[in-house]
Amino acid sequence: MKNRYKLSAFVLFFCGAACAQDYLCTTSNQRFYQPGACLQACRPTTEGNGLTRGVTMADRPCVFKSKCASIMKHLSTGGDMLVLAYGAVALQRRTMIPQPEKIIVSQVLARFFPPYNIRQFNVVIGEVNGADQWASLMPSRAGAAPTLTVSHDLFLVTPAFLISVLGHEMVHDQQYKRKNPVNPNGFRPVVDAIRELEASKWQQGIDTFDRGFRSETTLCFDQSESQEVRQVTACREWQVKKAIENVRSGPRSSQLLPLIEKWMKADPWAQQVYIPEHPDWKTARAGGSPDNVCTTP
Ligand SMILES: [Zn+2]
Repeated sequence: MKNRYKLSAFVLFFCGAACAQDYLCTTSNQRFYQPGACLQACRPTTEGNGLTRGVTMADRPCVFKSKCASIMKHLSTGGDMLVLAYGAVALQRRTMIPQPEKIIVSQVLARFFPPYNIRQFNVVIGEVNGADQWASLMPSRAGAAPTLTVSHDLFLVTPAFLISVLGHEMVHDQQYKRKNPVNPNGFRPVVDAIRELEASKWQQGIDTFDRGFRSETTLCFDQSESQEVRQVTACREWQVKKAIENVRSGPRSSQLLPLIEKWMKADPWAQQVYIPEHPDWKTARAGGSPDNVCTTP
């Protein structure tokens, strides 16, 4: 696991600004990670001979032309719906596509996370509330589709990061579908923290759990995104320890700790990944928060 993390840092160091910049300024041939940076730096050109002089040849010269291997293998050449929708949302290109944000969500689910598809969710593009900053998944009541809320800002970062955030929410969907005979009343913060840790480790590409889809785009994040994912995972690691420590030092410790153990052993991820990675989980000290944005669970 550690090797994979080192590899990711290594590639970023050597690729630097030329690694997987998916946005191309067609007038200067410069590449950018963020669509906003392309729009800002890329100027339309006026080309032409005597007949066409002064006519703007490309008034929206930024295009989504991926250099990320794990994205490129899912794109078709020419008229790709994901590319067109991305152009409309992130690069202000003209399009006839209605609701291009929903098209992007739909295309990403179908291509990167099958058998997931947009029909399984009530997709809302808008403000996100909950543990995650960029998107959230609210379980449904009585057979209705869960609501997948996606922040508009998520379309203005790298496509790799957007794909990874949607995958993180699919991990939450898998968690909602698991049945656990142990009621987490009394230790709900422990369960919530473990759920977030699982999804964040998947997003960082360092989770070994077999779930049918892998996190493949981590090498195509820009540096700030890689750092954000690493920091969030470190925070989740600490929050799990802290939540367990809170129970251990609380008045119902002798009753709740055995229940936590029972819950963990009945949860496939906690049983197969968390317990083996943290054999001392019952007694481990949490210590201080890893940074000032990481709050007590
Ligand atoms: Zn989450």
